[in-house]
Amino acid sequence: MFNNILICEGYAISGYEWDSSKVDPLKYYNANSYFLIDSAAYDWNYCLWGYPSLSSVSITNEDVWVEPDDFGETGWSGIFIAWETEGYNYLYCYIFINTYEIMYYSNDEIKSVIAHEFGHCWGLAHVYTNNLMNPSDFDRFSNYVYSPKDDDVDGVGSIY
Ligand SMILES: [Zn+2]
Repeated sequence: MFNNILICEGYAISGYEWDSSKVDPLKYYNANSYFLIDSAAYDWNYCLWGYPSLSSVSITNEDVWVEPDDFGETGWSGIFIAWETEGYNYLYCYIFINTYEIMYYSNDEIKSVIAHEFGHCWGLAHVYTNNLMNPSDFDRFSNYVYSPKDDDVDGVGSIY
């Protein structure tokens, strides 16, 4: 009699994902050897118990390019671009972090921005709850969301 209970999940997925051969591990290039990028990746790996996982590489022709740079007053602190896709599979993507907009952010807050973009990289879309995939920096920071929450992890777990 309880078979028809609908479980409402908070996470939302974009519909895009990496082929399973790519996520064991998914390789990212840390363009300016910025330590908070590796720190955000570490947080995801810790929460995902090793699968899927992110691994930093030193050569540039990899799956995910992560670059902190001064893009000026754009209104965004981080942006995710699926550069190339094949159907609903990512082939190559960019994460840009705007050092101008994060100038006064704490390390935890910057890590939250980077981890949010890694969430898009996994195939997560935005949610408006207290999770990493909330697009508002203000909302995340005022709720101390600096790393993946259970709902974010569930979302990735539903994809891979
Ligand atoms: Zn976003």
